[in-house]
Amino acid sequence: MKKLEDFADDINKCSKCGLCQSVCPVYKITGNDCAVSRGKFVMLDGVLKGDLKLNKNIEKYLDMCLKCGKCKNFCPSNIDVCEIFNTAKYECAKNTIQGKFEKFFESKLVFGTFMKFMKIFRRINSAASISGNRGEGCIKLLYFKGCVNNVYPKTERALKKIFSNLNVEIIERDFDCCGLPFLSSGNMERFEEVKKYNLALMDSDFDYILTDCASCESTLKGYFNSTHAPLTTEDKKASFERAVARSDGGFSFVNAAEFLAGQNIKFKFKKPVKVTFHKPCHLENDEFLKPLLQKCENVEYIEAEDYDECCGFAGEFALKNHKISKNISVKKADNIAKTNADIVLTTCPACILGIKHGFLFSGKKFPKIMNIMEFLADSQIIV
Ligand code: SF4
Ligand code: SF4
Repeated sequence: MKKLEDFADDINKCSKCGLCQSVCPVYKITGNDCAVSRGKFVMLDGVLKGDLKLNKNIEKYLDMCLKCGKCKNFCPSNIDVCEIFNTAKYECAKNTIQGKFEKFFESKLVFGTFMKFMKIFRRINSAASISGNRGEGCIKLLYFKGCVNNVYPKTERALKKIFSNLNVEIIERDFDCCGLPFLSSGNMERFEEVKKYNLALMDSDFDYILTDCASCESTLKGYFNSTHAPLTTEDKKASFERAVARSDGGFSFVNAAEFLAGQNIKFKFKKPVKVTFHKPCHLENDEFLKPLLQKCENVEYIEAEDYDECCGFAGEFALKNHKISKNISVKKADNIAKTNADIVLTTCPACILGIKHGFLFSGKKFPKIMNIMEFLADSQIIV
């Protein structure tokens, strides 16, 4: 596991240009330099030089980050901001009461037992496995269904309903959480635990890892370039060997909406409906959206202003920074409300909560807010 001092060179690469301020949703609301990467790097540099201690004040500012990665994408020095913050948070959390409490809550005993219970509930309640119309050229999809599908399996059901019309095989495994909540709270041991468990289940013959959540997908991709675990770890090595043995040279990921955009399928809606889209920060690109909506009859798309801006939720960020989170979410809701759309589509369950959070405080009329799969499953599917 890396230590903060291993990132000394990266921290020093920060030229203090301040460009990150122009994209950071938290800085835009607070105007506080400690909320954005530049200010955090000044503090962490002080820690590495021994002038500051990694105490609860610094932890407060490390927690004041959505891990949206906007600054990383914009930084001319190309610094992997989130990985540095996660490592600093890990070192902070080891010594604080808050960190110890979070560790207990996220442990296998508490969080793991809760998820086990929800999985039993899901087995009773969720859609049966589907085989699709398997024929020549059948595409094998290893479906990573995130934790939210254990609690609220509506997206999973919708996805299976749509995909049962295609020439696909959906392979299911008893995956654990992708680990994103553990990464964000600095609980690296727990993150490594679920990563090891999930990697061991990616052992079958498949073409793509299919996800319906942008955050899960981005965390899973991080398994393969994360430096939190040494590359020599046996599980990781074995997993890479499997990946390299594959004809495309590695695991390929696809989100369900992106996959449908490339299929010969159409969606006919009974009545005209206006939709808008919120792009989750963890969704790498949304180039699939317009081609997918072109396959939908009776659907009008209206782009919202700043549709790719963070929803402000980011799990525990909303709990620890409620006022900032609320302001970001309200701005998001206001931009959506201006479109007069009936339905807001997205691909991340946390963003659905963030947008609902914004409408709750904005006082504007609530549109329907849902995963794209749920929206499409409500149509007449034509293949
Ligand atoms: S954009 Fe990058 S280099 Fe510039 S201040 Fe922010 S973190 Fe530092
Ligand atoms: S990851 Fe997002 S919230 Fe955090 S400092 Fe960067 S832009 Fe700001």
